[in-house]
Amino acid sequence: MKRRAFVQSALATAVTAALPANALWAAAAAARTRITGDINAVTGDGNEKVIEKAVLKELQASLRGQILLPGNAGYDAARHGWNGMIDKHPALIVRCTDAADITHAVNLARDYNLLTAVRAGGHSAAGKSVCEGGIMIDLSQMRGVRVDPNARAAWIQPGVLLGALDHETQLHGLAVPAGVVSHTGAAGLTLGGGFGKLSRTYGLTVDHTRYFDVVTAAGEFKRANVSENPDLFWGLRGGGGNFGIVTSFEYQLLPVGTDFLSGAVLHPIRDARATLEFFAEFQEQAPNELEASCTVVSFPNGKGFVSVSIFYSGDPAKGEAVVAPLRAFGKPMSDDIGVKKYLDLQQSTDRNVPYGQQYYLKAGFLNGIEPGLIDAIMRMVGNPKPFTQTINFTQVGGAISEFDMRATAYANRDAKLQIVSGGGWPKPVDEAEAWVAMLRKDWDTIYPYTKGFYINNMMGDESDQSIRANFGVSYDRLVELKNKYDPTNLFRLNANIKPTV
Ligand SMILES: Cc1cc2nc3c(=O)[nH]c(=O)nc-3n(C[C@H](O)[C@H](O)[C@H](O)COP(=O)(O)OP(=O)(O)OC[C@H]3O[C@@H](n4cnc5c(N)ncnc54)[C@H](O)[C@@H]3O)c2cc1C
Repeated sequence: MKRRAFVQSALATAVTAALPANALWAAAAAARTRITGDINAVTGDGNEKVIEKAVLKELQASLRGQILLPGNAGYDAARHGWNGMIDKHPALIVRCTDAADITHAVNLARDYNLLTAVRAGGHSAAGKSVCEGGIMIDLSQMRGVRVDPNARAAWIQPGVLLGALDHETQLHGLAVPAGVVSHTGAAGLTLGGGFGKLSRTYGLTVDHTRYFDVVTAAGEFKRANVSENPDLFWGLRGGGGNFGIVTSFEYQLLPVGTDFLSGAVLHPIRDARATLEFFAEFQEQAPNELEASCTVVSFPNGKGFVSVSIFYSGDPAKGEAVVAPLRAFGKPMSDDIGVKKYLDLQQSTDRNVPYGQQYYLKAGFLNGIEPGLIDAIMRMVGNPKPFTQTINFTQVGGAISEFDMRATAYANRDAKLQIVSGGGWPKPVDEAEAWVAMLRKDWDTIYPYTKGFYINNMMGDESDQSIRANFGVSYDRLVELKNKYDPTNLFRLNANIKPTV
């Protein structure tokens, strides 16, 4: 070899060896799955399809990430999400590391018309991010977050959890309004709209999303923002994962600070009716800076409590005056309202909804809390279940309702509250079906008071008609987008918009 060529190649080798990417390549190569034959998979319309060994090997060779097949180390961990009730077995899992991996996986899924699940944080209560017999495109390892404090912008990859986003943005006293449990995925939450403690003051997560990078069903990479593909930008802001796989998001951050007046006042379960009646009125008077929620928790032994929690986004001294009636009401068991760190608050309910426990929940929006609804809840409280049951009211409305209804696909901006009724138990039980039936029966009595639902809290038993009604005037426009970006309904495990082409 000539000396110059040798020096160049030695230098190139030394430089690449120093790059972390090289380590990733090496790790990926070491983690290659042994592909020993064809596999059987299921298509979107439920038929069987064989994926040939050569095709799988070609896919594997194209990835920096990894293919996982049943029986491989890591397969079981990858297919399980937040809700331990969900136990589905994809024919293959593609663990992606970048947009190129996602594109290769989408191309295979489309060419074979496979039943396709897309997983980010894995928090879907209905288990929409995993599938039986199809392909699971797993984004959970793509966890990059970058914050530019000068531009007040945060860029994230789709496997990022809310805790990581808050951790990085709060370093600079910044935040984007998002959910209240730190192990929730930012990707799924954002695509459905996204709301949390800051939303009544500043709006939804999608109201502060600057762009989405997307791989469409055709395997095309697109940027969606106000000027590039604005139709797609509209649809991704509340239309769920119907139009492609988002490979990165950018948020506009708000200079909110780090300390807020927040906390909960707890009352005994015997005062549940009076507390619910108080909350029904209190929440109606709330300014946009206040986000209040009320949770009835009832244990199998008939004991329990009712908590009213508050978060005030403005000056704590002003907040004290706003929450004074709450603190003066009744004879609370405890009251921990005070100035707290946003980062701590954002993790404070994590332990109540641990990952992997078994859950069933139903949710809907409300315009207010009617006396008949309080009666229905009191009947549930008087009839304890063999598991812990919770009924939660959380305020939405405020700034969420003040954004232009037609500017995004998010439905039900005018709702005032969300009610979530559910139960959980730590381990699989033989009685699970009967327990779910009890929760469904309770929901039947709550449902007539609701007006639409949040697509991110669907349980998978909603009809096509109810999804259409829920999107209301936006539905036809969503169908147009679906026809354009996903005409074969590759991305169907979501609040599904059915294509008509
Ligand atoms: C305990 C708990 C607390 C919650 N709190 C809140 C809250 O405070 N505020 C709120 O707004 N919501 C909340 N939610 C609902 C939450 O928004 C949804 O569960 C959401 O789907 C979570 O996103 P994920 O990435 O973790 O979900 P996943 O299960 O990974 O995905 C959910 C859906 O989004 C699709 N999807 C995910 N990523 C992508 C992507 N990159 N491209 C295309 N499609 C994608 C999936 O295919 C699936 O259909 C909560 C849920 C739970 C269980």
